[in-house]
Amino acid sequence: MTTVDEYDANNTMPEDDPNGNTNAAPGPNRWGKSHAGAQELQKMYGEMRWKRRSEVFGISAAIGTFVVQGALLLSGILTDIWWHILVSLFLGALAADFISGLVHWAADTWGSVEGVIGKGFIRSFREHHVDPVAITRHDFIECNGDNFLVTVPFMMTALYLQLTGNEETMREWRPHTWFLFSLGIYVAMTNQIHKWSHTWTTLPRWVEFLQRTHIILPRWHHKKHHISPHACNYCITIGFMNYPLEVIRFWTILEFIITKITGSIPRSDDMKWAEKTIHSE
Ligand SMILES: [Zn+2]
Ligand SMILES: [Zn+2]
Repeated sequence: MTTVDEYDANNTMPEDDPNGNTNAAPGPNRWGKSHAGAQELQKMYGEMRWKRRSEVFGISAAIGTFVVQGALLLSGILTDIWWHILVSLFLGALAADFISGLVHWAADTWGSVEGVIGKGFIRSFREHHVDPVAITRHDFIECNGDNFLVTVPFMMTALYLQLTGNEETMREWRPHTWFLFSLGIYVAMTNQIHKWSHTWTTLPRWVEFLQRTHIILPRWHHKKHHISPHACNYCITIGFMNYPLEVIRFWTILEFIITKITGSIPRSDDMKWAEKTIHSE
């Protein structure tokens, strides 16, 4: 079996080759854990004890909510119309995919690693571009804490309404509840799905099946995002929304408008981190 270190040394993410980012210097593993920027960013995570605690809280609270919500849905499943459930699950996945794209695009394109939001949130996006396989070394908490945490407020609100609402109304709202459940699960699992899309060895067969069928983000699909300048295919939950959004050039138009209004240059901070290796190796 390939160990993590062997994997990093010999089989660094296949999408590394075509990148040709600003680091044109020859040599193996331009990107990866030897990258000066990646090391600095990973060190920053280790120094944030509060961040780790918030991730543990997010995962515990979200799992508790999902279990209760799932039990309520399953207990009434015989009164549901099966295709209502399927449509709701699919729409929930699409909505989560779009949200993943929006958040990913915003964090990749704007801002810096300064301040609480920068250190606590944008930092991981910068790290991911200079060391794309670092995510495969992150444990479940580091990988998924943020995503589980953001589902807590809206899933708890939904659960509260469900438990305190009128029985008749709740029955009518069940397709919406299925939608919310699917949205919540997919949002929570987005970065785990993203991690799997970077794992080229040792994936369980059922995960590969889900990737092949686009029920989760396929590996070949996400590779395109990692080609410099990391400006397409931002959706990383199921990846389905990337097709229409790329056709209408959604992100490019959004960036054009924001640059016109604010004068900010897209991905300027991301490029700054990418260039670090030139001076440090
Ligand atoms: Zn990215
Ligand atoms: Zn990625």
